[in-house]
Amino acid sequence: MIESPLLPKLTGYVGGRWTESPDGNTFDVYNPATGKVIASVASMSESEVKDAVEAGKSALRLTNPYTIETRRKWLEDIRDALKANKEEVGRILCMEHGKPLKEAQGEVDYAAGFFDYCSKHIQALDAHTLTEKPKDCTWTVHYRPIGVTGLITPWNFPIGMIAKKLSAALAAGCPSVIKPASETPLTMIAVFTLMDKHVDLPDGMVNLVMGKASVIGKVLCESPDVPMLSFTGSTEVGRKLILDTADQVKKLALELGGNAPYIVFDDADLDAAADNLIANKFRGGGQTCVCANRIFVHEKVVDEFGQKLADRVNRMTVGDGLTEDVDLGPLINKAGFDKVKRHVEDALEKGGELVAGKKPADLGEGHLFFPPTVISGITPDMCCSREETFGPLVPMATFRSEEEVIEAGNDTEFGLASYVFTADAERAQRVAAGLRFGHCGWNTGTGPTPEAPFGGMKASGIGREGGLEGLFEFVEAQTVPRGF
Ligand code: ADP
Repeated sequence: MIESPLLPKLTGYVGGRWTESPDGNTFDVYNPATGKVIASVASMSESEVKDAVEAGKSALRLTNPYTIETRRKWLEDIRDALKANKEEVGRILCMEHGKPLKEAQGEVDYAAGFFDYCSKHIQALDAHTLTEKPKDCTWTVHYRPIGVTGLITPWNFPIGMIAKKLSAALAAGCPSVIKPASETPLTMIAVFTLMDKHVDLPDGMVNLVMGKASVIGKVLCESPDVPMLSFTGSTEVGRKLILDTADQVKKLALELGGNAPYIVFDDADLDAAADNLIANKFRGGGQTCVCANRIFVHEKVVDEFGQKLADRVNRMTVGDGLTEDVDLGPLINKAGFDKVKRHVEDALEKGGELVAGKKPADLGEGHLFFPPTVISGITPDMCCSREETFGPLVPMATFRSEEEVIEAGNDTEFGLASYVFTADAERAQRVAAGLRFGHCGWNTGTGPTPEAPFGGMKASGIGREGGLEGLFEFVEAQTVPRGF
């Protein structure tokens, strides 16, 4: 069992108090590196979720809103608490998610960055008066908090994802009811412990509910007191939330699946393209929505590039994230492991060639460690071309022309992240403009950052997180024209 000063309680948090599940229901949290249960956490029922919404309602202030200074202080205090406790929060995150310890601690820094960014730009949410005087009136534009928001997060970034949402919600003055993924609730409990101790938030401003997604989701979708949901997760659940909130016309911010193309032209710096691909693809064990999922390499350089990848992949260490110098941890659960295995089997059966990694028959049983794998000769009919693998597989297809690769890159319902490597600036501009993806790295495999808006086109979502666009997600503009 995990022991930590940041986990004094393993319960929800409602209206400023740690809250048990009255019927005593719990669910288990596993360390994917060992397969052992590390905690049993309170599983809350409908009535606690409703209490959390009520608590949020009581913290919402419309007629005497929290001042910019108050909200900025909340954000700064959360940032400082995260930075001061980065090592321990990172250790908890590593134990429930599996990613290497340094990467987990890096995620805590990344999370602190969102609170920092919002604290520094919160002034943008202040009211302003228009210089024009249309219709003989003086017009003031106010940014009102939308209300109590439901924030639903996945397991792949247990602190990064909530930071994106909570920083903007608090900046706007919106109370929230937060539901973490059941695979990784402990990091969120640690964040609540820190907020409880170090941040002077009004009771009900932040509420934590854990347990069955269907129960919690239903309350959040049905309650008229929750006008907005911000969700990161699968497109399947995103679609369900759209349907379940349609009759109330709720505002939704959705960050959904990706199927990122990573395009390497023959004039690219192949070493840089390979280094960036390794960093991008194997982050979080390949379980991120911005991980390169389809690698398109110009046919002239595919063998050379494949060799560079194999050299790098063969030097990587797979193991328990708590062990020093591990590059790649386990996958989150058996379903995740089996999906990657299925994609590798399918690609090899349909004519792909194993450039690095193991054949599925040699993987062994009873663990979740999947070796980094590179396969060449990928074709559009293979599963890995159509679905997000969410694991450490690099599938390489070839292309000949710019037009062909733009079309192939766009041949997916998703539109989150994409990458292009070329020395030709004009071509990079054309390809980025042609790719229908919210993010297009040119000669970099880097993903989102607190300073820039990030989000998806097409079925990858609605809205943006990060940057000024993300800061404005939780407010509604209200105009007050004054006649005399
Ligand atoms: P992933 O495959 O990354 O786990 P999911 O979309 O299944 O993605 O889950 C993301 C988050 O959404 C998790 O916190 C999960 O518990 C939650 N979730 C799943 N189904 C629902 C639902 N019907 N309503 C609300 N939240 C849900």
